[in-house]
Amino acid sequence: MDDQMVMDDQMLDQDQFQSYRALYVHIPFCKKRCAYCDFTTEAIESGDPRIESYMDSLIMKIRRYSRQEILGQLETVYIGGGTPSHIGNKELSRLIYTLSLSMHLTPEVECTMEANPESLTLPMVKDIFALGVTRLSMGVQSFDNEVLQTLGRIHSASQAVEAIKTAQVRFDNISIDLMCGIPGQSHQSFVDSVSKALALEIPHISIYPLSIEEETPFEKRISQGLTEDIDPDTQASMMQEAEELLFAAGYHRYEVASYARPGHECRHNKAYWTGVPYLGIGRGAVSMKQNDHQRIRFNEEGVIETLNRPQMLVEDLFLGMRMSEGVSKEYVERIDREIEGTLDTFESLIDDNLVYEDAGRLKPTEKGWLLGNVLYGRIYSLEP
Ligand code: SF4
Repeated sequence: MDDQMVMDDQMLDQDQFQSYRALYVHIPFCKKRCAYCDFTTEAIESGDPRIESYMDSLIMKIRRYSRQEILGQLETVYIGGGTPSHIGNKELSRLIYTLSLSMHLTPEVECTMEANPESLTLPMVKDIFALGVTRLSMGVQSFDNEVLQTLGRIHSASQAVEAIKTAQVRFDNISIDLMCGIPGQSHQSFVDSVSKALALEIPHISIYPLSIEEETPFEKRISQGLTEDIDPDTQASMMQEAEELLFAAGYHRYEVASYARPGHECRHNKAYWTGVPYLGIGRGAVSMKQNDHQRIRFNEEGVIETLNRPQMLVEDLFLGMRMSEGVSKEYVERIDREIEGTLDTFESLIDDNLVYEDAGRLKPTEKGWLLGNVLYGRIYSLEP
């Protein structure tokens, strides 16, 4: 029995495991690799026959899972990459049509698709909207051409603006990613990018500090002294500047890197942070299934990690601290009955102003997010 069949058998064991409520579909193709990227993706021309055969196999899997009745409870779908928009309208339409036949892709289901500015077209926007996509997440990163060049992005700032306007022909639920702390990026450049996003009325904005991943062109350039290294203090002050601008514009920070206007939070990402079982389909996709005793993460090759119950509970606390809503005090008290010292740890986090109590919930403070390693490290030290 191969690994895939083993995983399929486990997935069929629905008496034991909770139903999947979120679906991730991975499209591992891009036009060109960005200088900082270590995701599972491959640079390929959009008409390459390997894309069609990859999509064939995705579609076969979705149909099989539908027959196995494991797609009936899905509340969110996320088509991510890579660059989904790079594979073109025909392949995307095949995929979304298959999803609409295989699960209840009703308007209540949040269905997000990622797109990059250089490959999003008006016909694509119209078709994916008609087939059931409800939300577009655009990889913009910056509205400054020099910064985009440093990152190795293949689109310009004006292409990003055009793509957003094209998306807005059908979608009001749009998210963009912006990055801060990029070598050579001034404070003004970053602030201008956030202001541009606000002027474009984007209701969801994710702000990430650039991180240097191993074996990327960026890492090589830094190690050779060709590019300056990132500065965590600059990144922290840019994150704070973004927060001030976005708060003033009526956004709330519902997760450490995510800002939304009311009602525009990403339900799919919230599923990851609240211990909701998810199914991942595709080359780099990870799935998570769980029951009361264990949480298992796996991909197409097999099991990646298995958490026992105490490890699951600690992970839930950690994930809760990524979100502004935190965790309920009652939940922490329940965990304290199973993991000694949980309440004491939270009391000491409150004493250190990393966590605060508000209306029966324990929530991370601004300082807690800034010193995330300390906050998360103390929670993980609870693991028996
Ligand atoms: S577009 Fe996204 S996935 Fe593709 S190489 Fe760039 S960062 Fe990586």
